Amino acid sequence: MDFRGYEPVIGLEIHAQLKTQSKMFCSDSTKFDALDNENTSPVSVGMPGALPVINKKAVEMSIQAGLALGCQIRHKSVFARKNYFYPDLPKGYQISQYDQPLCEHGKIQFVLDNEVKTISITRAHMEEDAGQSQHIGEYTLINYNRSGVPLLEIVSGPDLRTAKEAAEYARTVRQILRYLDVCDGNLEEGSLRCDCNVSVRKIGAPEFGTKVEIKNINSFRFIEKAIEFEIDRQIDMVEQGQKISQETRLFDPDKNQTISMRSKENAQEYRYFPDPDLLPVIVTDEEIQRLKSLLPELPVQRAQRFIKEFQLPEYDALILTAEKELADYFEKTALQSKNAKAASNWIMTELLRELKQTEKHISQSPVSEATLSELIGMIDQNIISGKMAKSVFSECWKTGKSPAQIVKEHNWVQITDTNAIEKVIEDILAQNPSQVADFRGGRTKVFGFFVGLAMKATKGQASPDLVNQILTIKLSGQ
Ligand code: ADP
Ligand code: MG
Repeated sequence: MDFRGYEPVIGLEIHAQLKTQSKMFCSDSTKFDALDNENTSPVSVGMPGALPVINKKAVEMSIQAGLALGCQIRHKSVFARKNYFYPDLPKGYQISQYDQPLCEHGKIQFVLDNEVKTISITRAHMEEDAGQSQHIGEYTLINYNRSGVPLLEIVSGPDLRTAKEAAEYARTVRQILRYLDVCDGNLEEGSLRCDCNVSVRKIGAPEFGTKVEIKNINSFRFIEKAIEFEIDRQIDMVEQGQKISQETRLFDPDKNQTISMRSKENAQEYRYFPDPDLLPVIVTDEEIQRLKSLLPELPVQRAQRFIKEFQLPEYDALILTAEKELADYFEKTALQSKNAKAASNWIMTELLRELKQTEKHISQSPVSEATLSELIGMIDQNIISGKMAKSVFSECWKTGKSPAQIVKEHNWVQITDTNAIEKVIEDILAQNPSQVADFRGGRTKVFGFFVGLAMKATKGQASPDLVNQILTIKLSGQ
């Protein structure tokens, strides 16, 4: 990737709305389609004296998400007040976590452009959401339904280097959260929100450049577009000798550009301090173990198991476990066909290609696990060759028929009768004496020419293994 001699540095802050029934610090509902200000109470509109109570379910979901993101869970984490004024924040501060977040030091992996990427997760902390302002002419209306809704903020290390990588990272995080059923991952409805931090530096420079934060981007495509634009803008500025100012920008999808919103506050300006209304969150090892045992097998664990149990390369294992349904499909086929390597090869090549071309999800595949297993079995039993199997697969895909039926209809059965193949090869050798002489004189390349003729003479049905064996014997003059 060419960035005019610069290296982009990107880190993402993902705010995931936890799927609890009630808010982070009170019993108000979190229902999305409620009437304006229906989901409110003294706590969520910040009445003086109203006291917060921690939502246990939100803590449990956050721990599970943290574990799935490879994080260490702190035995003691602390809620802190992040002070700023905005009308949709009625208390004048947001309850968040600061220097003692619940989850830290994690990492996730995904595959992009044939490479395994490992991205660190600096921290994942709990906080409450703010309300929503609606500007109508000269009025601003505020809806506090979202005020106090539990969020998990997942902060990546500054490890991402391209816009595409950042979008794929965000997709992976979303997939993990959905897998655990702790967040519905809906970017449009705002249940997953992504802030992208972007800076650039000259390749080889020891320090990072000044970062700019792009807020509230509501689709993966826009994450990519916004970052691409921002990288170009920053390189242009640096090239012109201008300084990048630390600021928050917004992405305008219509104009496909980012625009300045405000200069960014730093941590001191927020005057973080431990919230005196809340006790620290104490989590014991037993509790972490209990929550861990309730987790479904995570994509990364499943990938590790596939590597061990089925001897898959890491790359294949990551691709096959990127989606639960695909992993299920592979595992079933591997077990049924008793040939995991073949199952993985067929899925990684033919099946994924057909799915992509026809824009189908694995759950809509016309070739079932049973069908693919049957096909693999037919190759393993030498009923058809690997080459024929590709045609059979493609017919299975088109017609939904079973491999046996297709093989029968097209008479694609492999010829494994040694005598019949010998006869064909003897004829070919007799008809091509000069090539035979060439071969015996050392031009071994003509071997392929004979194989071609033999396959042609048998309409591709001769077993390639047998053709090779018999040709070798006959050409050596035995
Ligand atoms: P802040 O205190 O400004 O929010 P953080 O240190 O919490 O900054 O980092 C916020 C996000 O920005 C993280 O995802 C981090 O990886 C990323 N980040 C930090 N420094 C840079 C940088 N120079 N360029 C790009 N991203 C950065
Ligand atoms: Mg931050």
